[in-house]
Amino acid sequence: MTEQLTGGCACGAVRYEADGEIEFSFNCHCRKCQQATGTGHSSAFAVAANQVQFQGEIREYKASSDNGAATYSGFCPTCGSPLTSRTERFPDRIYIHAATLDDPSRFSPAFTVFEEAAQPWDPPMKELEAAPR
Ligand SMILES: [Zn+2]
Ligand SMILES: [Zn+2]
Repeated sequence: MTEQLTGGCACGAVRYEADGEIEFSFNCHCRKCQQATGTGHSSAFAVAANQVQFQGEIREYKASSDNGAATYSGFCPTCGSPLTSRTERFPDRIYIHAATLDDPSRFSPAFTVFEEAAQPWDPPMKELEAAPR
């Protein structure tokens, strides 16, 4: 299913349009996502990197994910909203934080990732399966 997805950061300095298909959607409970979002997990979806057009500056920082791969987390330098992340494991893919969607109700997570790092005050959704690794 192809659908156009639009969204942006909290202050409006960064906007994006994604034309491609959502490859998959997930909630990630890893420590890096907890720190980047300020809460118990991130909710994100993956699209092909060449299907997304961004407007405005995104700044990235490099970190290691809980499985050791280098990841690059993108945020708006003005308002700090987390927007994207990329991992060297899947260079053709970009992950976009679900709450940045203009219509976040279009997001529906299919998987839980790093559920073992979940905090007791933000447990993984029971109906979701752990992602294949
Ligand atoms: Zn912003
Ligand atoms: Zn994570």
